[in-house]
Amino acid sequence: MLETFERLESEVRGYCRGWPTVFSTARGAEIFDRGGRRYIDLFAGAGALNYGHSHPLLKKALLDYLGSDAIVHSLDMATEAKERFLLALEARVLRPRGLDYKVQFPGPTGTNSVEAALKLARKVTGRYTVASFTNAFHGMTLGSLAVTGNSGKRAGAGLPLGHSPTLPFAGYMEGGTDSLDYFESLLQDTSSGVDTPAAVIVESVQAEGGVNVASNRWLQRLRELTERWGVLLIVDDIQVGCGRTGRFFSFEEAGIEPDIVCLSKSLSGYGLPLSLVLIKPEHDAWNPGEHNGTFRGHNPAFVTATAALEHFWCDDAFSAQVRERSRELNTWIEAAAKRCDARPKGRGMIQGLELPYDVAAGVARRAFAAGVLIETSGARDEVLKVLPPLTIERELLAEGLDIVGSCLEEELRTRGAQRSVAESSASL
Ligand code: PLP
Repeated sequence: MLETFERLESEVRGYCRGWPTVFSTARGAEIFDRGGRRYIDLFAGAGALNYGHSHPLLKKALLDYLGSDAIVHSLDMATEAKERFLLALEARVLRPRGLDYKVQFPGPTGTNSVEAALKLARKVTGRYTVASFTNAFHGMTLGSLAVTGNSGKRAGAGLPLGHSPTLPFAGYMEGGTDSLDYFESLLQDTSSGVDTPAAVIVESVQAEGGVNVASNRWLQRLRELTERWGVLLIVDDIQVGCGRTGRFFSFEEAGIEPDIVCLSKSLSGYGLPLSLVLIKPEHDAWNPGEHNGTFRGHNPAFVTATAALEHFWCDDAFSAQVRERSRELNTWIEAAAKRCDARPKGRGMIQGLELPYDVAAGVARRAFAAGVLIETSGARDEVLKVLPPLTIERELLAEGLDIVGSCLEEELRTRGAQRSVAESSASL
């Protein structure tokens, strides 16, 4: 079935191995393969499809735009589509939250945004290290890999990755030790061996790293510490921004203002590549063209991004709906965790179950066979990560979770049976 891909596409391909079919159409939270088989999508393009597949309003805006021969490609020239997007971002996102940021359009992917943020922080401060956290994931280019925790991903760099001291993320230290006490000690102690970094880069929820949540208090203290020591705070909101935790930015609840914010994934709203860096005006130290590239703001993506901001973020209704759906998801997660002796994780519409070794991967495999796309996360793929489109209907979410629940029970039953067979053969 995947003969063409196996023959022609590089071994680097990933998702198609776990989901071995050829996908063809999709709408909302449902995706269909070319044999017409339906899958409920609890994966949402790894967070790139917060508003679901092919949202009709966004699709109409895109088709109207393309139908009018409007500009598609323009490097970073001024276009009407970009102007409308900037105005919508100001009116729907920044101004209502009292935020003042300049906007940089780097290349179109998340890692492009992270690279730009790291480079800018170093330029602004004249320092060269950027501190990052255990289990962080910021992308696959060299700068982003240097601030990423996973050793398998880091090994792919093919050269030493440096200039990034790693700090323990919230909850990483055993016995209730606050990981930020450790950071503060390093900053205070001139003999700590750790130079004051240019910046700290953080995800408020580590999505790829195991759905690890930083509390509001922890984020506030990180902001306090970075401010006190003149270290820039970069929040990578690439996977959990654009409404994933209920509000537009994941750090809003903590009431903090990062110096730099990275956004991508669901920014275009339609799965089109688009990313940006928000920069506090006083840190906008770039010279013209100092960080450039060919695809810096793709006009069709601006069009769908503008339509998404105008439709979903013109008032609080969408946010309220996401919070309600999150509560439903949380009820299921908590119940499943109790039933299966798993650890519930997450916040908003990114939640998961930490399971014993290999179980999450087994459940994801079974779920695919039963018609649900669901991903794992964490250093050892130990977390079953539920990441549906934010627009998923209540019934569809319930149906998808029901299937996942049965797959989980089946996986645990099979393992239990295998274990007791192994134990009884060992005792023979
Ligand atoms: N940062 C975070 C938090 C991510 O989750 C990801 C991708 O999953 C990235 C950065 C990298 O984005 P991209 O894959 O578009 O380069």
